Amino acid sequence: MARVLFLGGLGRSGTTLVERLLGELPGVCALGEVVHLWQRDVRDDERCGCGARFSACEFWDAVGERAFGGWHQVDVYRVLALQRAVERTRYIPRLAASRLPEDHVALIEEYAGYYASIYEAAAAVSGAEVVVDSSKHSALAHCLRWWPGLDLRVVHVVRDARGVAYSWTKTVVRPEAEVPAEMTRYSPARSALLWNAHNAAFGLLRRRGVPVRRIRYEEFVNDPRTGLLDLAAFAGLDVAVSDLKFIDGEEAELRFGHSAAGNPMRFTVGRVPLRRDDAWRDAFAPAQRRLVGTVCAPLLRAYGYPLRSRRLP
Ligand SMILES: [Zn+2]
Repeated sequence: MARVLFLGGLGRSGTTLVERLLGELPGVCALGEVVHLWQRDVRDDERCGCGARFSACEFWDAVGERAFGGWHQVDVYRVLALQRAVERTRYIPRLAASRLPEDHVALIEEYAGYYASIYEAAAAVSGAEVVVDSSKHSALAHCLRWWPGLDLRVVHVVRDARGVAYSWTKTVVRPEAEVPAEMTRYSPARSALLWNAHNAAFGLLRRRGVPVRRIRYEEFVNDPRTGLLDLAAFAGLDVAVSDLKFIDGEEAELRFGHSAAGNPMRFTVGRVPLRRDDAWRDAFAPAQRRLVGTVCAPLLRAYGYPLRSRRLP
């Protein structure tokens, strides 16, 4: 069975950067947000991280062939129906149960099986020891827990809720769509509630026996080399300091990959700055910052974020 490193957390927490850096390590194949692959790639044929249309990408063509005998064999509408039936944030308490009715387990297993087939095929096609799925969705991680024999390891990426909420108020364009579209935006109140729900869900997953490593985005960006060595060890990879030459001071040199659906940053190739995005500290309206800080206070505190200080300590 393939070893899967699942990157979890609420969107805008820095998971794409973590994925891109992990993808540069030997023995790793980064797949992007597999949760969106069914609709955006298999159905809508959007662009892969390599720039080619999904249907024209040799890597994904080989993965589809090996996993399903070709993507045309996959009933996307069945996968999306399963997704709606089992993979919702509000179903997490049920997914986290130790026992479920057999017919429900059958649906979860059918859904998780599609992912397991992709992981297995991607590992075989790429020759990688570890595949990275940066789907983020906590409900998907809970579904994958039910697939027998999957070596699932979860990296739970947390970022200060106020930075996350500020980022969700901004407009981001999705360049890979046929007609350039904007990514979803959330109000600060909604972001705050989602931040609590998703982060708590990964704590619950850990209590169900899944290996979960929590990292703070801010800490990771401050010292990505140490962060990567730690994650490599968590993933069971033998990575040496000499494998981290692509990180040089506050920059990383990224090669192109075959990251499917996800953040526009997956198209970035070449040198990228490794600076943490702290724009919210000056730009986020004080009333909204306070609102998010209050709603998220218990978990912010648990993760070691200062509640009051506007400036970094
Ligand atoms: Zn590709």
